[in-house]
Amino acid sequence: MSVFITRFAPSPTGLLHLGHAYSVLTAHDAALSVGGKLILRIEDIDRTRCKATFEQAIYEDLAWLGLTWEGPVRRQSDHFEDYTKALEKLRDKGVVYRCFKTRKDIADEIARAPHLSPDGPEGPQYIGKMLAAHEERSLLAEGAPFAWRLDTSRATRIAEKIGGPLAFTEEGVGPKGEHGQISATPEIFGDPVIARKDSGTSYHLASVFDDALQGITHIIRGEDLFPATHLHRLLQAVLDLPTPAYRHHPLMTDETGKRFAKRNQAVTIRALREGDETPAGIRRRVGLA
Ligand code: GLU
Repeated sequence: MSVFITRFAPSPTGLLHLGHAYSVLTAHDAALSVGGKLILRIEDIDRTRCKATFEQAIYEDLAWLGLTWEGPVRRQSDHFEDYTKALEKLRDKGVVYRCFKTRKDIADEIARAPHLSPDGPEGPQYIGKMLAAHEERSLLAEGAPFAWRLDTSRATRIAEKIGGPLAFTEEGVGPKGEHGQISATPEIFGDPVIARKDSGTSYHLASVFDDALQGITHIIRGEDLFPATHLHRLLQAVLDLPTPAYRHHPLMTDETGKRFAKRNQAVTIRALREGDETPAGIRRRVGLA
């Protein structure tokens, strides 16, 4: 039988809600049905928004749901040096550049020429440029903060020269019904920030790195992350990492059709289990009974 390893990778920025329950139970059931494994990973690189109490609540809620996972749990904030190494690899390949601009600089630039930056999955598709060496040296000498942006078109050219056109397999369904072999179009991100000024990494870099490190064969997650897969596929190619299969699933919504959000207290697992809900009741609520 082929190996099947999937993961649930929450960010501890709030309590888990029914949408998370649906996602983790779907991943758990998929692994169980083929004798595979479910791994739990804590994606907490954003040190200002992530809280230890929410991380603790994740363990408690998942255990209450009856889930088990293989330890030790990988907590991304313990592994920044790994992401720095991955960034160095991108630097060695010449596919990232320093961006010293502030949010305001970028917003002003986009306002002056909006047609150059159509909307992408994370906002306008901003494309910056590498500074001349002497400009960069003087900003670095001043201690000016900077992020690293991916030069998407260069990275794509290099990746496709070696491995041919980039694609991934969608075994689930994307937000527009995407299924099957999907051509990757990372250019929808413009030149995204791949290492932030504050954390030195990004969700994209850390997540792609860890998926490979942990041998993830199947990524099961909400369709809101489908667009990110285009970028992840490119990062896998330039970092020489394997590409898992993807199974995006629809997002759970409330009676009014709105997505559940962490700030909506009524549908948190915590609130439901402190009421008279049971794990079986949660399964029924998310349609996995
Ligand atoms: N940490 C992300 C979140 O909580 C999930 C990332 C992923 O599944 O790739 O939304």
